[in-house]
Amino acid sequence: MVALPLPVPVDSLAFVLVFWTVSQQIFSLMRNKGFIPSNYVTERDRIEANLWYCKNITRTEAEQLLRQEDKEGGFVVRESSQKGVYTVSVYTKTLSANGDIKHYQIKINETGQFFLAEKHTFNSIPDVIHYHEHNAAGLVTRLRYAVGPMGRCVPPTSGFSSEKWDINPSELTFMKELGSGQFGLVRLGKWRAQQKVAIKAIREGAMYEEDFIEEAKVMMRLCHLKLVQLYGVCLQQRPLLIVAEFMENGCLLNFLRQRGGTLKEAWLLSMCQDVCEGMEYLEAQSFIHRDLAARNCLVNEHNVVKVCDFGMTRYVLDNQYTSSSGAKFPVKWSPPEVLHFSKYSSKSDVWSFGVVMWEIYSEGRTPFENRSNSEVVSDITRGVRLYRPHRASQPLYSVMYLCWHEKAQGRPSFSELLEEIRKLAENPD
Ligand code: ADP
Repeated sequence: MVALPLPVPVDSLAFVLVFWTVSQQIFSLMRNKGFIPSNYVTERDRIEANLWYCKNITRTEAEQLLRQEDKEGGFVVRESSQKGVYTVSVYTKTLSANGDIKHYQIKINETGQFFLAEKHTFNSIPDVIHYHEHNAAGLVTRLRYAVGPMGRCVPPTSGFSSEKWDINPSELTFMKELGSGQFGLVRLGKWRAQQKVAIKAIREGAMYEEDFIEEAKVMMRLCHLKLVQLYGVCLQQRPLLIVAEFMENGCLLNFLRQRGGTLKEAWLLSMCQDVCEGMEYLEAQSFIHRDLAARNCLVNEHNVVKVCDFGMTRYVLDNQYTSSSGAKFPVKWSPPEVLHFSKYSSKSDVWSFGVVMWEIYSEGRTPFENRSNSEVVSDITRGVRLYRPHRASQPLYSVMYLCWHEKAQGRPSFSELLEEIRKLAENPD
C-alpha cells in the first residue's frame, strides 16, 4: 500500500523538515529563474484580500486568537517567520477537550503549484484554502471557520482591500449609544445583522472629512491584535459614519476608575503590555499616534486593551484641541518638544505611553491633578516629572520614568520598552 502524503504539523522535528523542504523548493525556483517566482509576488496580493488572512501575527498570537474564539475548525492563515512562506493555524477539540492548535505550512512544488496535501495542488493559496474548507484531506479537521484579524467574522472590507472600504449603510443597524467624543456620537450597531460593530457618526463641522477619507485607506491596513480595527467608512451619506471593532468594556480610563482597587498587579502590567504591543506595531509602521492616553484606549470583552483613535487628531477641526495653547490640548500627555515646537514622533508617543502607564498604576487618576496646563508646561520644562503612583513598584516606575527623558532621542523605543515590560512580567518581584 502506498502511504498517503499527509500534511505535516509544524511541530518539533517535522517543523525543521518542512521548513527546510520549502526553502529548498523556493531557492531551487529562484536558482532556475534567477529571481523570486512571480507567482509568489502576486500571491501576496491575492491572499491579503481574504477574511482568513491575518497580517502581522505571530504563531503565539494566532494561538491566542484561535483559543479566544474556541471554535472547532477555526483557522487563520499567516505569514510564517520565514518571509514569503504562509502557515495555516487550525484549532480543534478532537484531540483533547482543552483544544489543540496545529500549524501547517503551505508548500510549493517544482511546477509552482501550492499545496497542504501533496495530492491536491492548486494555482493559488486561496484555492488551497477553498479546497480544505470542504476537505480535511489529512489536516486534523477541515477549515471550517475563518477567524478574522480581530477574531470573529469581520466585515470583508477590514484592513485588506483599498477598494472595498466603503461600507453600505443599508447593511448597518443601530443599537444603543456607547458614548460621545470630539467627533460625535458613538453607537453599538450590527453589520449584516450579525457582526457587532461600533459606529461613530461624525458631527458636521467637527472633522476635515476629505483628508480623513484619504488617510482612512491607510489606517484600514493597520491591523494588529492590540489596535482597535477600523473596518470602513460610509462615504455616501452625511453624517459620515466610521465603523470600527466593538469593544465591550469601553474606554480604559473609565474601566480603571470603576474597578480601582480590584485589579491585580499582574493585570495592571498586562494592560501596559497590551498598549505597548499596539504601539510597537505603530512604531514599526512609522505611524505616529499623537494622542495616546488611557481615554483613547478601549477594553474588549476578554479585558484585552487596544489602542484606538491613532492619528485622528490631524482631522480635528477645533483649535482648542489642536493648538498646544488650547484648553483641550493634551498637555499632560505631551513631551517638551511637542509643547514648544509641535514636533511629533514615535518618541513623543513614548512620552505619552509613560503617562498611560502612570494612569494605569494610579487606577485612572488625572496626571498633575491640581495643576493647570500652563503650570504643567513650566513644570515639565524645569524637569519636574510625575510621582510614583501608589500601585507601581520601584522597577516599574523606573520603566515609565525612562519615557520622560527630556530629549526624544534619550527615550527608549516601544520595542525596547516591550522587552522591559516582558522582563517585569517574568520576574514580578
Ligand atoms: P472621539 O474620537 O469622537 O473623541 P471616542 O473615540 O473618544 O470619540 O469615543 C467616545 C466614547 O465612545 C468612548 O469613550 C467610548 O466609551 C465609546 N466608544 C468609542 N469607540 C468605541 C468602540 N470601538 N467600542 C466601544 N465603545 C466605543
